Amino acid sequence: MEQQFIEWLKAKVGSDSRLDVGNGDDAAVLRPPAGRRTVFCTDMLVEGVHFPPAPDYDPFAVGQKAVGVNLSDVAAMAGRPEAAVASVTLPRQGGQQIAERLLEGMLAMASRFDVRLVGGDTTAWDGPLVVNVAVLGSVAPGTIWRRDAARPGDLLLVTGGLGGSLRGRHLEVEPRVEEARVLSSAFTIHAAIDISDGLTLDLSRMMEASGCGAELMLAEIPIHADAVEAAADHPEHGDPLARALGDGEDFELLMSMPEGQATQLLQAIAEGRLAGWPGTPLAVIGRVLAEPGLVAVAADGSRSTLAAKGYLHEFS
Ligand SMILES: [Mg+2]
Repeated sequence: MEQQFIEWLKAKVGSDSRLDVGNGDDAAVLRPPAGRRTVFCTDMLVEGVHFPPAPDYDPFAVGQKAVGVNLSDVAAMAGRPEAAVASVTLPRQGGQQIAERLLEGMLAMASRFDVRLVGGDTTAWDGPLVVNVAVLGSVAPGTIWRRDAARPGDLLLVTGGLGGSLRGRHLEVEPRVEEARVLSSAFTIHAAIDISDGLTLDLSRMMEASGCGAELMLAEIPIHADAVEAAADHPEHGDPLARALGDGEDFELLMSMPEGQATQLLQAIAEGRLAGWPGTPLAVIGRVLAEPGLVAVAADGSRSTLAAKGYLHEFS
């Protein structure tokens, strides 16, 4: 079955001018774009952990997510994704059908962002579906967005809306690749991270890495409609704001940039003259402070300590 599958995949993927050798050899060979650095990341999804157990998941959606979460990481480095490899461990029962839908989902997400699936590996076992994707991309050396370079006085900006992703958005990742491309080519961003484990947790990671702290203006947090609905269904898990602050898998960009640059950026978007901007909402949610820790600023100006909350993969 494996050889058949590789032939099917080769026919689906096609050729690409960025490749000296594509699918079907021992390894793929890429032509690195002149003058750019290589960005490289990987992410694993496990049935029952990152998506519901069978038969409650759609392999197509899992394939899209497996590629999408990696594209989100590349975008958070201001990178341009170019190629991907996928390793899949299939359940023995129904594996072939799952594999085809899974690959179709991967290819759908990859082709939206001009990313080529250049290889992979499949195995089968009596356990659940496990999918690992690695993505290669490139970035201009002067514009790499690290998480450890935020500076006191920077404004904090976030794309999209936050919270309640478990209502379905966590499987429909919208990687902010285009947003990162436009922003990195025209503005100075000191630091960035993609929000995968929750706003306050990922913000605290960025601030700790940068040796800074931050204040968040609670009234400015963009709360997703999913967070409002999730809070109505399960009020015991927090109100919409708490969900926007702590729910994971938003896959939005959190950026730290000089105030003057942020002002110019917001003006350019408001006046519709930021070429290539996909129309994604962008909100200023706070400011970087010299003192470590997170501070919540309420609408009336009162300040309180904010605990970093989010999703952690615990192990011992
Ligand atoms: Mg990340």
